[in-house]
Amino acid sequence: MVEFDAAILHKVGQPLEMARARIDHLEAGDVLVRIMASGLCHTDLEVIEGSLPYPMPIILGHEGAGVVEALGAGVEGLKIGDHVVCSWNPHCGHCFYCERDQPILCEPFTRHQPRGHLLDGRSRLSCAAAPLHHFSVVSSHAQYAVVPHSGAIRVPREIPFDRACLIGCGVMTGVGVATRVAPVQPGASVAVIGCGAVGLNAIQGAGLAGAGTIIAIDRAKGRQDLARTFGADLTTGAPADDVAAVVKEATGGRGADYVFEAAGNAQGFRLGSEIVRPGGHLVFLGKVNIAQDVSFRWGALMGEKKITRSSYGGARPQRDFPWLARCYLEGKLKLDELITARLPLARINEGFAAMRRGEGIRTVVLPWGEQGELA
Ligand SMILES: [Zn+2]
Ligand SMILES: [Zn+2]
Repeated sequence: MVEFDAAILHKVGQPLEMARARIDHLEAGDVLVRIMASGLCHTDLEVIEGSLPYPMPIILGHEGAGVVEALGAGVEGLKIGDHVVCSWNPHCGHCFYCERDQPILCEPFTRHQPRGHLLDGRSRLSCAAAPLHHFSVVSSHAQYAVVPHSGAIRVPREIPFDRACLIGCGVMTGVGVATRVAPVQPGASVAVIGCGAVGLNAIQGAGLAGAGTIIAIDRAKGRQDLARTFGADLTTGAPADDVAAVVKEATGGRGADYVFEAAGNAQGFRLGSEIVRPGGHLVFLGKVNIAQDVSFRWGALMGEKKITRSSYGGARPQRDFPWLARCYLEGKLKLDELITARLPLARINEGFAAMRRGEGIRTVVLPWGEQGELA
């Protein structure tokens, strides 16, 4: 059906290799998306480095945007030529968890996604006649992806693809934690730990929700400065800073009403539990190796604190992606400032190398070139 360029991971720790991949046919409910832009997210790097085990060979990428090029049987609500953002957590709509309004836990998704398959338990991707694995039901580090219709969400045509793709993971997760998971009450105090893509979006999400005081915590001065651009009132986190004291001082001695952890390390988890006020709400967004133990001071968990884990900011992609795109188009959401590099797909390894060095916020790869024009 289509043969196309893709970045393939064959083994943990190795660079991605460019190759020609194939999608031979679409099943009922499938959507073929011509990927115009795709972000590089930490979760992709976790697979490359082996802290998130996945079957290989695999096409990574789960933050993609593009154009609907073909539809499998029975897809409603989408047409060829629509601009879409991919969701990395498509859902079936009728399993135990979907029926209980927890689509992030959708059983076909949680069963088949770790095996590198689509929701029907099969792959549509191949390379040199051997099957390839899908990553989180997206695989957008390629010129084409095939996703279930619940994973292709139409957005306004006015939003450029390189900005739109960010909505699919980092923006949704960060803005969603403040506006959907918490949700932050007007005038409340919010502390955000870690100011990468997710943390910066948690900050701007807190602003959208009408937070009173927003405190950004990051070791790096550059990221603290960026946090102010995204709406932080106060920044701390330099090695010499007493972060807990700064947060208490700024919140009447109690701690923050909401704390969003987006640093993805054990110290960040622990710090979050210390700086949220009694009765406040702490949300963990970051991740460490799934086999790693994390410790807390028991007293820090007392005081009726509400502690939540969120992977996708409470995403309801059909509701939230078009809303986030409109917020950008209306000037209420910053996306331009998140993109620190644009690369052709063939140079994707340079993007991951920069991520390993902790440089930049988001690298976006453009599988069809810098202009993103249709060939
Ligand atoms: Zn991601
Ligand atoms: Zn389901």
